[in-house]
Amino acid sequence: MTDSSSHKIQLAKKFENGVYFTCEMCGSCCRGFKEGEVYLYEDDIKRLADHLKIKTTSELKQFVREYLKIVNDSFFWKEPGAERGKTYRFKSLGFRFTGEDEHCHFLKDNKCTIHEARPFQCRAFPIGWNMLINNVKNFTNYSKKCLALQNSLENKGKFYSREEIILWANEEYKMEKEYFFKMRRNDFNIFKVYPFLSKDMVS
Ligand code: SF4
Ligand code: SF4
Repeated sequence: MTDSSSHKIQLAKKFENGVYFTCEMCGSCCRGFKEGEVYLYEDDIKRLADHLKIKTTSELKQFVREYLKIVNDSFFWKEPGAERGKTYRFKSLGFRFTGEDEHCHFLKDNKCTIHEARPFQCRAFPIGWNMLINNVKNFTNYSKKCLALQNSLENKGKFYSREEIILWANEEYKMEKEYFFKMRRNDFNIFKVYPFLSKDMVS
C-alpha cells in the first residue's frame, strides 16, 4: 500500500486519532445489495482471476459474464488542485448477486470463500472508505446494519491508528483516481476500458 502526498485525507473529528473495528462475521454486508454495490477495479479483477486460476481470455470473459455486472453510477471527483468537485455519471463494475437474500456468489455459511483475494472494497471496510471515515453521519447510517460499526462507535474492537487509516483511505483515493482518469481517456466508455466485457451485460 502506498502513501500519497498529493491528496489530503479528511478524517471526521471522532476518527482523528483512530478507529476501533472488529468484524463480527455476520455476513450481512455481503447480502442485500439493493442498498449498495461491491465495486471492482482492475487490480481486483486481476487478483481474483489469479486466485481462481483463470488463464485464458475466454475463461475471463465467462467469469465476468457469470459473476460481474455493469453498474450505472455517479462518481464525485475533485480534480487535483481544484477548489470544487464535480459529479460525473459513468459506469463501473460490481459483483452480481444471487438468491432471494441477494448474497454475493462467494459467500458460503457466512464466510467469504475468496477471503485472500476479495476486492479492495471488502478488505478496506470501513477504514479505507473515505465516505465513512470523513463523515460520522454516514458511518452511523451504515452501523444500523453492522454490529461491528455499532461497537466501533462505542470504541470497541481492534484499534486502527490514524496512520493506518490514512494509508487505506489514500489507497481508495488512488484507485478511484486511476479509474476516473482511465475512463476519461476512453470517453467514459467502459467497453473500451475493459475489453473483456460483453455488450449484453448492460441492464
Ligand atoms: S455487517 Fe459488519 S459485522 Fe457483519 S460481516 Fe459485515 S462488517 Fe462484519
Ligand atoms: S467477496 Fe467476500 S467479503 Fe466481499 S462481498 Fe463477497 S463474500 Fe463478502
